[in-house]
Amino acid sequence: MKKFPFLAMLAVHSKLGPIVIDAPFGHEGPQNAGFLANGALSLLGPKFNPKWSIIERIRQVGYRSADVDNVLITHLHFDHTGGMKELAHAKFFIHAPEWKYATSEEAGLSQGFSKQDYQALGDVNAFDLPKEKDLFGDGSVCAIDLRGHSPGQVGYRFKLTNGDEVIHVGDAAYGVEQITGDAPFGKMSKVTSYNYDQAIASLQALRQIASENPDTMWVTSHDYDLGSRCENGPVSLLE
Ligand SMILES: [Zn+2]
Repeated sequence: MKKFPFLAMLAVHSKLGPIVIDAPFGHEGPQNAGFLANGALSLLGPKFNPKWSIIERIRQVGYRSADVDNVLITHLHFDHTGGMKELAHAKFFIHAPEWKYATSEEAGLSQGFSKQDYQALGDVNAFDLPKEKDLFGDGSVCAIDLRGHSPGQVGYRFKLTNGDEVIHVGDAAYGVEQITGDAPFGKMSKVTSYNYDQAIASLQALRQIASENPDTMWVTSHDYDLGSRCENGPVSLLE
């Protein structure tokens, strides 16, 4: 049986140091999803391994959590937020409509949000997006509007110093083949969408970027192949 992965990513900025993208697990694992969801998850996947927690993963790449000043969040579903409070010293970048919805009365565990993960953060940059936004003003990371899966889902487009490009799309696609190949969007994408029409439009936008930039490397939060490669420790996308 394939194991459904919850992936985080770390990018190293030449001036800002390590930047973390999403924080799926804290040291308590998926307990943030509540007793029922946690029970369902434990049936679906392997028992939580503390080595998967975000602080431990950052350490495995050679940094301390205190070195992380910036965290980019693709969206605030519980499987992306469990470790956020363990990085609460950092600045969090979150698309404004996502932040607004996720902190509203309406959002709760039945919509996929675990408010305890993010309600006590000190420094949240809830940014607006015309279309793309250069987050650090140097062209290194742009946020892209990919709403649909959630009210303010975004992707992050990284320009590496060697000219390569990596785009992390969160849950705007469940596998890279949905963007670069002809894999269908699928039932999973449909049942988990906040707004399915918007989700389809966001996927089309990604396919357009892929067709114009065939060398771009793509990351999705639940990619099976990448997940199985990361099970025993972080891997480099550049190898
Ligand atoms: Zn999600």
